[in-house]
Amino acid sequence: MCVSSDETSLNPPLLNPAQQEVLDLLGSAPDERPVFDPTLRDSLIDELEESLADLAPELDPADPLFISKHALSTVHGCEARHVAERDKAFEWSAPLARGSVAHKAIELSVHWRGRPDPLEMVDEALARLAQGTDGLGDWLITCSEAERAEVRALANERVATFLECFPPLKASWVPVTEGRLRAELLGGRIILAGRTDLSLGRSEGNTARKVVIDLKTGGFSSAHLDDLRFYALIETLRLGVPPRLTASYYLDAGRAQPEAVTEGVLRSAVKRTADGARKLHELAVGTRAPIARPSRSCRWCPALAECGAGRAFLGEDSSVDVFDND
Ligand code: SF4
Repeated sequence: MCVSSDETSLNPPLLNPAQQEVLDLLGSAPDERPVFDPTLRDSLIDELEESLADLAPELDPADPLFISKHALSTVHGCEARHVAERDKAFEWSAPLARGSVAHKAIELSVHWRGRPDPLEMVDEALARLAQGTDGLGDWLITCSEAERAEVRALANERVATFLECFPPLKASWVPVTEGRLRAELLGGRIILAGRTDLSLGRSEGNTARKVVIDLKTGGFSSAHLDDLRFYALIETLRLGVPPRLTASYYLDAGRAQPEAVTEGVLRSAVKRTADGARKLHELAVGTRAPIARPSRSCRWCPALAECGAGRAFLGEDSSVDVFDND
């Protein structure tokens, strides 16, 4: 990110320690900004396309294989759950709407003139999203008053926490919320896509300066690191220069989990993405039987009622050996 020490020193001295910590994390001195080889982008694309070249005849650019961070995360977790969620009709609910409303409200707050009020941002977000033509707009218009109140309360908590933890973002830091990322492989047969919660800064030549941030509730998970490495990879395929840093920011704890983006990080993201793309394709066309991998998250799985391995893992069916699923 392009917060220089000069800019930092010009900030009003009214930041709380959590905000100061964010500012310290995001700032970088010029000699801390890595310079990447201009051939990196082509090299990463070559590696991905060579790994997946045999799938090309089975894929149609008119009906491409979309790879999102969620799809990658689920297919590398429990494949049986991935298939169950994929085949389940999507329905909006208060917990799902909460995230979208909060993200919209944070987006408004970043660009709001003056000191943004969390609840005002949430109400503005609710009004704008209700005008949308997607499923969320319909749900917000037709949901009950209690559901709407629940969404408003939950989103307000998230926005208030963000405003408490993050310093006011200057226009010179190039803040972008809900930034779309997309890269195409094998002539558009495979599409890597994502949307970053917040990014700050932009690259200069081959020098990495951008910071990509995912806002999280709850605690740390190694899957969050993988999600951000995937975003760093797409960003590199787009621009040729990776972000300087990625960070999951845990709003409840007011703490960041940063990771510097290196070529090694990107190469490991290539392998995980290629491996996941192959599994996603094979599961989609039915040439792979989904493997169940029980974990604590079985508790929230839509397939739990029919899944012996999951129920056994949770202690509800002692007749099933949870390790006998490969
Ligand atoms: S209950 Fe657990 S093991 Fe079974 S499909 Fe769901 S996540 Fe996988």
